[in-house]
Amino acid sequence: MDETHVAKAAELLRDAEFACCLTGAGVSAESGVPTFRDLDGLWQDHRAEELVTIEAFQADPRRVWKFHHGWRELIGSVEPNPGHVALARMEKILPRFELITQNVDGLHQAAGSSGVIELHGNIWDTWCVNCRYQCDAKLQPLSDEPHCPQCGAWLRPGVIWFGETLPIDALRAAQRAALSCDVMLVVGTSAVVQPAASLPEWACQHGASIIEVNPESTPLSRIAAVCLSGPGAHVLPALADKLSA
Ligand code: NAD
Ligand code: ZN
Repeated sequence: MDETHVAKAAELLRDAEFACCLTGAGVSAESGVPTFRDLDGLWQDHRAEELVTIEAFQADPRRVWKFHHGWRELIGSVEPNPGHVALARMEKILPRFELITQNVDGLHQAAGSSGVIELHGNIWDTWCVNCRYQCDAKLQPLSDEPHCPQCGAWLRPGVIWFGETLPIDALRAAQRAALSCDVMLVVGTSAVVQPAASLPEWACQHGASIIEVNPESTPLSRIAAVCLSGPGAHVLPALADKLSA
């Protein structure tokens, strides 16, 4: 991590009237939640992407539930890392800061961030595929093959699977933020899953500076004003320290 890059990123954030942040699976990597890339091959030789579609659920709901039960168990056992905590600190330091996440793990809220825009839902939300029944599996543990107490149809995890439409309120709020922010901090996303991947592009086209935090370069790196190369759990605390200095 280059100190001059951290200083430049801090300066951009300090000068911004409105800063927002888009996070992806990488921000939770150091909490022990694997990114999808890291999950590949670990799940019965199937790519994780193939298990998070409505087609996979329709073909074999038990198999898809088994995957999600495992994911819930893992997420239920992890804690926010210093990267999540630093983002919660930034919300207090900066005049206006909005956090948009593609993650479904709830770790930003656990670290103290407020008003988090969840683009892909939350791992604990559970919906009936047939009626309007919904529940929170954190408060109400589910059976291995959960069915709706109201109509008997399958329940499904309330996360947005590949190919599904994003929740309209969250998407609108994220788009509004992208079109009006001065700076967008983009942390731990491969920037390939649409439509989230378009948000930094739009922000950039509307004159915002992009700060990328990722150990690897991504399609976004070429438009970023600053690339902070390194894990979020190291880079974000350094950035928050610089901002509060
Ligand atoms: P991705 O798996 O496609 O990409 C992860 C990115 O994080 C990569 O660019 C990688 O270089 C970077 N990364 C890895 N370790 C990092 C670290 N320590 N610090 C910072 N960056 C790091 O993830 P995505 O772009 O979020 O898209 C995948 C989809 O899968 C999203 O919809 C996401 O919601 C979902 N997902 C969520 C979780 C979660 O909730 N924690 C976990 C896996 C996948
Ligand atoms: Zn039902």
